[in-house]
Amino acid sequence: MRPTLHSYQHLAGGKVRDLYIVDEDHLLLVASDRISAYDHVLDTPIPDKGRVLTAMSVFFFDQLGGVNHLAGDPLDERIPQELLGRALVVKKLQMVPIECVVRGYLTGSGLSDYRSTGAVCGVELPQGLVESSKLDEPIFTPAAKAAMGEHDENVDFQTVVDQVGEALAFKLRSETLEIYISAANFALDRGIILADTKFEFGLDRDGNLVLADEVLTPDSSRYWPADGYVEGRVQPSFDKQYVRDWLTGESGWDRHGQSAPPPLPEEVVAATRARYIEAYERISGLNFEDWVKP
Ligand code: ATP
Ligand code: MG
Repeated sequence: MRPTLHSYQHLAGGKVRDLYIVDEDHLLLVASDRISAYDHVLDTPIPDKGRVLTAMSVFFFDQLGGVNHLAGDPLDERIPQELLGRALVVKKLQMVPIECVVRGYLTGSGLSDYRSTGAVCGVELPQGLVESSKLDEPIFTPAAKAAMGEHDENVDFQTVVDQVGEALAFKLRSETLEIYISAANFALDRGIILADTKFEFGLDRDGNLVLADEVLTPDSSRYWPADGYVEGRVQPSFDKQYVRDWLTGESGWDRHGQSAPPPLPEEVVAATRARYIEAYERISGLNFEDWVKP
C-alpha cells in the first residue's frame, strides 16, 4: 500500500513545486500543474505539466549521469498513488543558495545587464551583441536566490566566492558549464537550442556537491526551436509562447498594471499542454504516453 500525501508533513512550497518530508534524509518533490508567466502564477493549471516536467528532469538526470539527488525511481513505493509521475523521492540536501545560471545566448536579464554595463554578472562580453546573439562560449551568470516573491538578483563570481568560499564557487561554475555544454549539444542534435538554463546544487551529509531540484525543464531553461532562430529578435519560447501572446494580446490584460492575469481560455491551455509534451518528446525521443501515471 502506498502512503497518502497526508502522511507527509509539508516542508515548503514554491511557485510551482512543493516539498514534503519523507524521513530524516529524504524529501518528496512534487511538481504541480501550475504555470507562471510574467511573474504571476496563473489561476488556470496546464493539465499534465507537472508530469511532463518530472519526466524531463528524470530523463536528463539519467542522461547526464554524475551525482544527483534522486533517491528512488519514479515508481518508488514511498510516492502516493495520486502523485505518480509528478513526484520524486530525493535526498534531503543543504541547498547552496545560488541559482547556477548558464547562458549560451544573450537574452532576458542577461541582455539587459549587457546593454547597461557591457557585461553579465561581471563577465565582459564583446561589443555589438544584440537580442538572442550566440555567445562565443557559454558563461556562468549566477544569481542570489531571493526570498519568495522577490526577483533573484544577478551577482558576479566574486560575490559567489564571498558567499560560499572559493573552492565551492569554482566547482559550481565548472559543473554548471560542463552540464550545460553536454545538454546543449544533446538538444541541438534534436533541433532545439538550449539558450540558457539554471541548476541548483546541494551538499549531502558528507559535504559532496549534488545536482538537485529540477534539471533542464522548460521551466528552468529557455528552449528555442533551432530552425526558427534569428539573431536580433526575441525568439518564440517553446512552451509558454501561447500563454504570453494571449496574455499580452487578446486578453486585454495589462502586464505592467496591478491586476492579476485573467484565466486562460481552453484553446490556450490545450495548445500549451501540447507544447510541453512536444518539448519532452522531441528532446528525449520518448513517448509521453509511456510516462508514469497515477
Ligand atoms: P520559485 O517559485 O521561485 O521557483 P523556489 O525555487 O523556492 O521558488 P520551487 O522551485 O517551486 O521553489 O520548489 C523547489 C524547492 O525545493 C526549491 O527551493 C529548491 O531549492 C528545493 N530543493 C530542490 N531539491 C532539493 C533537495 N534535494 N533538498 C532540499 N531542497 C531541495
Ligand atoms: Mg525553483
